[in-house]
Order: sequence, then C-alpha cells, then structure tokens
Amino acid sequence: MSELNPKLHDIYDEVLRRNPGEAEFHQAVFEVLSSLGPVVNKHPEYVNSAVIRRMCEPERQIIFRVPWLDDNGAVQINRGFRVEFNSALGPYKGGLRFHPSVYLGIVKFLGFEQIFKNSLTGLPIGGGKGGSDFDPKGRSDNEIMRFCQSFMTELYRHLGEYTDVPAGDIGVGGREIGYLFGQYKRITNRYESGVLTGKGLTWGGSQVRTEATGYGAVFFADEILKTAKDSFEGKRAVVSGSGNVAIYAIEKIHQLGGTVVACSDSSGYIVDEKGIDLELLKEIKEVKRERIEAYAKARGGTTRFVNDGSIWDVPCQIAVPSATQNELDDSHAASLARNGCKIVAEGANMPCTPAAVKLFSEAGVTVAPGKAANAGGVATSALEMQQNASRDSWSFEYTEQRLAAIMQSIHHRCLVTADEYGAPGNYILGANIAGFIQVADAMTALGLI
Ligand code: GLU
Repeated sequence: MSELNPKLHDIYDEVLRRNPGEAEFHQAVFEVLSSLGPVVNKHPEYVNSAVIRRMCEPERQIIFRVPWLDDNGAVQINRGFRVEFNSALGPYKGGLRFHPSVYLGIVKFLGFEQIFKNSLTGLPIGGGKGGSDFDPKGRSDNEIMRFCQSFMTELYRHLGEYTDVPAGDIGVGGREIGYLFGQYKRITNRYESGVLTGKGLTWGGSQVRTEATGYGAVFFADEILKTAKDSFEGKRAVVSGSGNVAIYAIEKIHQLGGTVVACSDSSGYIVDEKGIDLELLKEIKEVKRERIEAYAKARGGTTRFVNDGSIWDVPCQIAVPSATQNELDDSHAASLARNGCKIVAEGANMPCTPAAVKLFSEAGVTVAPGKAANAGGVATSALEMQQNASRDSWSFEYTEQRLAAIMQSIHHRCLVTADEYGAPGNYILGANIAGFIQVADAMTALGLI
C-alpha cells in the first residue's frame, strides 16, 4: 500500500473486500490507482465525488451457462461472462477470451484495463470484456461452431451496435467471430454489422484489423525510438507469443528494419538468429494450428526449440511481450536489463508483473504499458465500426495511416501528461492519468452514473 496516495487507500480496500479472490483484478486496479496520486492531490474532487470508486465497480456483470454437444454427443458445460464495465464514452467495447484460465477476476481485470485503453484511443468507445473458460485446444471446427452458437444464444440479448460490441482476444479470432456473428444474425433477423468487430473482409470486416494490435505496438515502440532520435533499423528484438498480436508485431518490426530472433507458445520458445520466417510461422500457427516446435523442425539450420528456461534470457534491445498476463516477472526483467534491453512494449494485457515494472524503472528500461501500446487493436475495431455505420470500406493503406496516426497521438498524450504530472518519460503514469481523466470527466458531466 506504500505506493498508494493515502486518499486512495479506502478505495482500494473496498475493491479488495468486494471482489474476493480476484487477484488479477486487484492487480489491475492497484496499478491504475498507484498512478493517480498526483491527480488527486491536484483535484481532490475526483475522490470527493466518488468517481474513482464508481469506476472500480462494473456497470453490469453477466455470467451464464453455455451448454453444448461435443463430437461424441456428450454434453459439455462452460461458463460464459460479459462484464460491461463503463459506458461513459461510448458503447461497451472489448474482446472475448476463450481459455481455460478465464474466470470473473480475469474478465474484470481485462474490462478495467479496457476502459482506459479505449479512452486513450480518443474514439467514442466504453470498456467491457467477456469470454469463457472453454478450451478451444484440440476441438474440431464443428465443436467450436456449436460452442460459439450456444454462447451467442445467451449473450445476444445484451449486445447491439449502440450497446455492447465484442471482438476477439486469446482463443477468439476470425473463425469464432464468424460463428458468433452468424448466430446473432439468425436470432435477431438483423444484419447488424457493427455489433461485433474483427469480422472477415468480405462480410463487414476492416482492412488492418487482423494486423492492428501487433502493428500498433510496434508503431508505439517506434515513436519511443524516434523521441530518442533512433529507429528500429538494425535492432534485435524478442516477441513472446505466436498468436495474432505476436505475428503482426514481428511483421512490422521486420518491415522497419529490425530482426526478431525469438517467439514462443505455451510449450516453449524458438530462437532463430537469422530472423523469424513469418510465412512459415503463419503456416504453422494459423493454418495448421501446430505447436511452435514444428517451426524449428521445418526451418532447420541453427534454429532451436527450447522448452525449459525463458524466452527473456534471449538477448535483445527491444522486447514485445505478446503472450498473456504476468508472463514476465522480475527475474526475467533482470535478465533482459542485464542483456541490454532498452524498451519493453506490452503487446499483451498486463504481461509484466508489478515487480518486473519496478525493476525496469530502476534499470532505466522504458516500459510502454499495454493500455497504450496495444490500443491499436481496439482502435481499429472502432474504425471498423465507423465503416459499418457508414456502409463503407476503406483501403489497407488509408486504414493503416489512420492506425499509425492514432498510435502517434496516444504516444504524444502519454508524454504530455507524464510531463504535466511531474514524471517526464513515464509512459505508465502518462497512460493511466490521461485515460482516467477523460473517463472521469465524462462520468461527471453525465450526472451520478
Ligand atoms: N481484445 C483486444 C484488446 O485487448 C481488442 C478488443 C476489441 O477490438 O474490441 O484490446
């Protein structure tokens, strides 16, 4: 509690008391509150009006049963969630995660982060998140479809292009969004494109949405480099994960002249000193849906697969953790700093533990927090909503320019805000404060909500 402004202690205590056992949610709230000290000193009204307390309590939480039949005809039951956290800036917006680790605490942490991330994009979207403890691993296409249909059969009543607009996250990509959208369309008898984002390009999706989170994280890191009159040219990078965020982060780093030498999945990591062959990686992870070891086998040469130790022991100048929450702890941070890493851009949500963040700050490593660095995904979702609302579709080039401009503006907002609150160069403080103030001011303007 020592890092918290005393004015915020009661708020955090209340969060702990009302949300027992939700460690990730506690962590996400603590992280934001610990940045708000200088704000509440300058503006005590944020505490007096209870706007911070209200922000920590979701507007609505939906938990439901998802029954479905597997390929053997056996009944399976999962739990579905949607946490509609804050709609002060626009309809609830945020992805769905299908992973066995999903429970209310994970959905709430992600939903809470999403409020500030979406605010930072400068686009009119509120914050929400959902998902299920369903494990897609090893499931057939038909099983995935039946699960998605059952999930949407309950969730549809809570959605709408002006109400709540889900998208993908871990375990939910274009295939799942297709099944979910198809079921929504059947139940409602409406072709309401703007109710989901991450759709396919031939049925209402946006160019660059697939690439956006990874590209955006690299654009953000590029802005940090430019501020120091530097660039990606000749830089060595490590990107953890090998899903949608990681793949397109690697692609953009290569386009900007850097080399990504390692990536991973939950079974281990691969090191490829020549630079990752993206076509091969995409084939293995996106088409064949195989484990990462298959990449090393197919690539041959000096490429190696490692299933003990940590990807963060691979020396690099720039690290882009793009796997999952709390994947990078203080021992990993120490190893990265020792090996000369200077920038960490969070592609995943909350991938660095608080102890890792502390260590980076002491070691002079710049951390770009997820809610700023990975905001390109949801920002491009908002661009998809714009295209759907105007029944238009934009070119790849134009959409990518819009994404790049949004990332530049988020970077600028973080820096200006960090300066204003006496912490120059602190992107974490800048992101939390800038994201917070916009939402808090909107909530205040809308009366007691
Ligand atoms: N799941 C992504 C995120 O963490 C994207 C959400 C969206 O596009 O709505 O921001």
